Amino acid sequence: MGTTIEQLRERVHGSVITPEDAGYDDARAVYNAMIDKRPAVVVRPANAGDVMAAVDHARENGLDVAVRGGGHSVPGFGTCDDGVVIDLSTMRGVRVDPRSRTARAEGGATLGDFNAATHAFGLATTGGIISTTGLSGLTLGGGIGYLSRGYGLSLDNLISADVVTADGRFVVASDRENEDLFWALRGGGGNFGAVTALEFRLHPVDMVYGGPMFFELDAVGDLLRWYREYIADAPEAFGGFPAFQIAPPLPFIPEDRHGDTFIAFVACWSGPIEQGEAALKPVHDVAPVVAEHVGAMPYPTLNSAFDGLVPPGLQHYWKANFVTELSDDIIDAHLQHGPNVPAVNSTMHIYPINGAVHRVGATETAFAHREANFATVIAGMWPDPADNEKNTKWVKEYYAATAPLSEAAGYVNFMASDDQGRIKENYGVNYDRLVEVKRAWDPDNLFHLNQNIAP
Ligand SMILES: Cc1cc2nc3c(=O)[nH]c(=O)nc-3n(C[C@H](O)[C@H](O)[C@H](O)COP(=O)(O)OP(=O)(O)OC[C@H]3O[C@@H](n4cnc5c(N)ncnc54)[C@H](O)[C@@H]3O)c2cc1C
Repeated sequence: MGTTIEQLRERVHGSVITPEDAGYDDARAVYNAMIDKRPAVVVRPANAGDVMAAVDHARENGLDVAVRGGGHSVPGFGTCDDGVVIDLSTMRGVRVDPRSRTARAEGGATLGDFNAATHAFGLATTGGIISTTGLSGLTLGGGIGYLSRGYGLSLDNLISADVVTADGRFVVASDRENEDLFWALRGGGGNFGAVTALEFRLHPVDMVYGGPMFFELDAVGDLLRWYREYIADAPEAFGGFPAFQIAPPLPFIPEDRHGDTFIAFVACWSGPIEQGEAALKPVHDVAPVVAEHVGAMPYPTLNSAFDGLVPPGLQHYWKANFVTELSDDIIDAHLQHGPNVPAVNSTMHIYPINGAVHRVGATETAFAHREANFATVIAGMWPDPADNEKNTKWVKEYYAATAPLSEAAGYVNFMASDDQGRIKENYGVNYDRLVEVKRAWDPDNLFHLNQNIAP
């Protein structure tokens, strides 16, 4: 007989929310509004001890456990029906040590929380494009963003993690203790435990020069071919990606072009700021720029520049592949499908993952696909469930055209709920070792609401 809800309430210093409690609907909601689940209990922990209590409660009662960092998982792994949700949004503190250029973040910190804290010291590390994404989920799967070419994936910058394991123990994983767990955490997603804190290496990134540039659709071929050549050996301080984008009603875009579809390039130069304009000249030389919002800005400003396009509560359906060669054939497929992007929130991004990402070996961390040069995502996002068919159709047709020209694998953090069949490809050469580590740390698969590595 496991602990009762009353015993759980006694043990937890944070809050314990059941369907009878006020705030239950708010507590069960995740970012993707397609996901509508009703957990038995949501624990909002105040500390690692509360997380241990929640894990014990789930295990002892034979309940599912969903660990929620920022809640951005497109398949909705941050919630479940009838189980225990550990919602870390109450644990978001970040402590920066400017002397050692490191930062320690609690497991529920978002990228915005993290960047704000480190920027105060003129420091940063790789994160994603949107500031509301959870640092934990992003890092445990990879972490691709503006700084990847210069500083590697987010997980390449991880120094240690505090973890509550399936048996309710608290352990620290680093390259000095519990090394197998530390290896698996860096790419194996949420499979191995609930991470209550993460410690990162930081880099001197303060002001950056960048922003979005919009080009007419007749420049798609030129832009993608230029990108393919340029990014292969561009300076590593140059980050950025092409995107299909319907122009939102923003002041820097001519009013009569609002609602038109463009190929955009979002650039980020993290080198010396006075070199920024020259660093972005190659992009400007590809074709006339219709509209742009480019200049010097604090790194956290660029990291939150697109948050307004993707508020919580949209419908989400995504598909993704790694790409080694951006061939003429795949560019033709982008030309055919990208311009049909059906909603202002939706997009397709081709992120570069060369440079520093390639300097880490395929088996050094659990993130295997170090041979890929690009991570592509077709991100369907739209507000009205009545439009689900139209939008998922765009994603599926686009994916059907590009997937055969891409790697079989894709980035685990971009996977949809119908991608569980791709697990072995996605974890690649590291899959067998991940299964071994899973057997050692979570033999009963308590943590299975993720891109799951079955023990
Ligand atoms: C709008 C948007 C933009 C994005 N942009 C980028 C981007 O630029 N770069 C990029 O690399 N990815 C990006 N992603 C993908 C993102 O990395 C994944 O969605 C990631 O899983 C989000 O993490 P989270 O903590 O917010 O999500 P959650 O839904 O909370 O969790 C996702 C997964 O991670 C696990 N997890 C989360 N926190 C913990 C923890 N503390 N301990 C153990 N397991 C945990 C969960 O159990 C779940 O399996 C984006 C996603 C969205 C929706």
